[in-house]
Amino acid sequence: MELQKSFITMKMEKQKRIALIAHDNKKKDLIKWVEFNKDTLGKHFLCGTGTTAKLISDKVSLPVKAFKSGPLGGDQQIGARIAEGDIDFMIFFWDPLEAQPHDPDVKALLRIAVLYDIPVANNRSTADFLLTSPLMDEEYKRKIIDHSSSIDRRAIEFTKD
Ligand code: PGA
Repeated sequence: MELQKSFITMKMEKQKRIALIAHDNKKKDLIKWVEFNKDTLGKHFLCGTGTTAKLISDKVSLPVKAFKSGPLGGDQQIGARIAEGDIDFMIFFWDPLEAQPHDPDVKALLRIAVLYDIPVANNRSTADFLLTSPLMDEEYKRKIIDHSSSIDRRAIEFTKD
């Protein structure tokens, strides 16, 4: 039986909470992109996985809240923040040519980002399109599954004989 889904909205403010992540072979690309977009990015709250965040802070002089390094749990920390509604935008330059020790975490993060309907750029052209969207300067309502009602319905479903 397919359960009826209901939805709630989560508001993104004008000032977005942006997570920045790059795998090692993509870090230089991300730094160049951040440098190029420094003025725009400076209007938002930035955070990132440990090494990426430190590189951006050091090289581009933008404040970036650092989580743990990706392979040490940083991707999972960011995924948890997305689920809690504390991060609403992600630029994640992952490496399509090299396996990562934390590939399961990467997959989990990308899944959570889709589930919570946040804008995600995985390459430079998408990042360019996202950052130049007029919606960057506006509030936006994301539509996400209302877990509380689906949990209630599922619990009832599992107590039936
Ligand atoms: P890092 O993590 O910024 O600490 O290198 C990125 C990642 O590999 O997910």
